[in-house]
Amino acid sequence: MALSGEAYRLWEACAEPGCPICTRVRLDVARYLDRLLYENVNDTHIRAKIREARGFCNRHAYLLSRPGGSLGIAVIYRDVLERVLRTLDEARWRGGEIGSKALSDALAPKQACPVCVREAEAEMAYARALAEELDAPSLLEAFKESDGLCLRHFRTTLGMSSKREVFEVLSDMQRTIWNRLSMELAEFIQQADSDLTSSEGDSWQRIVTRLRRVV
Ligand SMILES: [Zn+2]
Ligand SMILES: [Zn+2]
Repeated sequence: MALSGEAYRLWEACAEPGCPICTRVRLDVARYLDRLLYENVNDTHIRAKIREARGFCNRHAYLLSRPGGSLGIAVIYRDVLERVLRTLDEARWRGGEIGSKALSDALAPKQACPVCVREAEAEMAYARALAEELDAPSLLEAFKESDGLCLRHFRTTLGMSSKREVFEVLSDMQRTIWNRLSMELAEFIQQADSDLTSSEGDSWQRIVTRLRRVV
């Protein structure tokens, strides 16, 4: 049985370091931001969403700032600023805290960051593909050779599967990977004062990315 598009991209991501779902979602978000800046700057539907969200969240605003993107960023953010200024112009003093609160509410984002929304959709799609297609031999083999999932995506994938094989492969793999990492951390802590060149030398960095989402 051929893999779905999502499962095929996960299969490719299994060869990269770190959680395959994080890898894929990070790539998809980067591509979405590229398209936004270089192709969709004048898309009225997307621009309306960005205006209502009052721009992007901190994380995605930081990712958006890139060489060559200055014109797109200026166009998008001028639009947001115009919307904010119009709200400010329309504001009328209504007395005491009520007037200030009404203006504060009018300026508040009316929608979530559009990139966060896209990111959450991608995470769900990849977790679903993994849960449904992990028993395909090619994906299973690649997944067993990978670094396994981060805690967030381990939980998301488990929540989407009712197959016993998926449950067993996922939990066995994560147990093996995290046991190994725990031993490396113990080694690192024990030898913190000596020069380390072996794998436990960067275990403290790997655990930070494995137990929190990195997308
Ligand atoms: Zn992940
Ligand atoms: Zn965001």
